[in-house]
Amino acid sequence: MTKHTESPNRLGKDRDWLVYQAGGLHIEDVCLSAVARAVPTPFYCYSADAIRSAYKYLASAVNPIGVSICFAVKANSNIAVLGLLAELGCGMDIVSGGELERALAAGVPASKIIFSGVGKTRAEIARAVEVGIHQINVESAAEITAVAEVARGLGQRAPITLRVNPDVDAKTHAKITTATKDSKFGIPIGDVADLYAEAAAMPELEVLGVAVHIGSQIHDMSPFRRAFSAMADLVVFMRGRGLVVPRLDLGGGIGIASNDTPGPDIAEYAAIIAETVGHLGCQLTVEPGRWLVGRAGLLVTEVLYLKEMQSGPMAILDVGMNDLMRPALYDAQHPVLTLHEPRTDRAAPHYSLVGPICESSDQFGTYDRLGEMRAGDLLAFDCAGAYGASMASTYNSRDLVAEVLVEGSRFRTIRRRQDISEMLRLEQAGRWQFPAPEGQEATRSAQPVSDGALRTPVTIGTS
Ligand SMILES: *Cc1c(COP(=O)(O)O)cnc(C)c1O
Repeated sequence: MTKHTESPNRLGKDRDWLVYQAGGLHIEDVCLSAVARAVPTPFYCYSADAIRSAYKYLASAVNPIGVSICFAVKANSNIAVLGLLAELGCGMDIVSGGELERALAAGVPASKIIFSGVGKTRAEIARAVEVGIHQINVESAAEITAVAEVARGLGQRAPITLRVNPDVDAKTHAKITTATKDSKFGIPIGDVADLYAEAAAMPELEVLGVAVHIGSQIHDMSPFRRAFSAMADLVVFMRGRGLVVPRLDLGGGIGIASNDTPGPDIAEYAAIIAETVGHLGCQLTVEPGRWLVGRAGLLVTEVLYLKEMQSGPMAILDVGMNDLMRPALYDAQHPVLTLHEPRTDRAAPHYSLVGPICESSDQFGTYDRLGEMRAGDLLAFDCAGAYGASMASTYNSRDLVAEVLVEGSRFRTIRRRQDISEMLRLEQAGRWQFPAPEGQEATRSAQPVSDGALRTPVTIGTS
């Protein structure tokens, strides 16, 4: 029984909350197989302790150099997870009105919420200004105008920073690179000072600083150094022009360890911040998403069928790309653990793991060290706490995946499965409407609506 300890060792010694005990994989003191008897697979399962520890570890490295942390909600937007972080004093970085409501619902004060994103609607901007958001990171000249107009309409001032595109390659996967000059994100660094001056002259805007976010899953620290140095030069240049720049938001992007790569060194990350921008006297913020939650969650799945292929055995799982999109979207390969310690330490076959979705990209890679597998076996995709559940969909009309939180010797569901009956309810057809001629407001349905909220007619053209 003590023989099969490779898996926890492979995962690194920094995760004492994830261990094989009495032959079964445990998150903290809870055996995952026992959770799987109560909650049908697939489900995500997070360790509260892992999330808290990650936050405390990062905070202890960056708080002493004057940096506050805003969690990037899109990495894991479950309000129970947000609540854990909020309790520790963590702020939030959001990218939509929906995420704003989630952060507020989790008890995060608006004064600790930063609104990022390249395509905010006026309704989202208005809601953010009304609740008293900490800042809106604006990504274009057109958005500056929109925010100013919305604020004027509300009779309020909107706190903004300008998101800068520093033209730095984050040296990560192309689909998660955000700061090269052809990227859709941010304002080209050469245009920032002029726009900043224009925005600062608008009475509706409180222009508070600049922001940058160069990409995600970054392991090589040198792009951070280059980007932060460019930001420091920019701040100095703008101040030389008489502009006031009290805030500097450094974005997220810190990578996490997987099987064969050690994680970035947080002490080095903090040292880079101190060296590059520490002297500016700005209020500094970082916006990590993945780093805080990525290694704190697993996705538990059952083997439905085994199939012998020419290239070797294949295991068909009850988890698909709709539940965990990263392999199909970013070529990510998540480590996989068996819930029972592998039955054999003899050379077991390599299994390719695939999902049930009717797409050939619905595959997770080829794995060894899973032992001899049988239908009904339970597996867990590791390092699935970030961009897992938050990206899940109901494609193929599959249930929206459940989420479970473990704390000590207890667990609870923090998102129940959304099943087909709930999906079908949203698809009850509305009333037929006739499109109004251009320039005229569409009329609401002439008949009174008698059959409830499901058929609320859409109003077009009001502001
Ligand atoms: C996605 C995102 C983050 C978080 O990225 P991670 O790689 O998860 O740390 C931070 N800031 C902004 C603006 C983002 O879009």
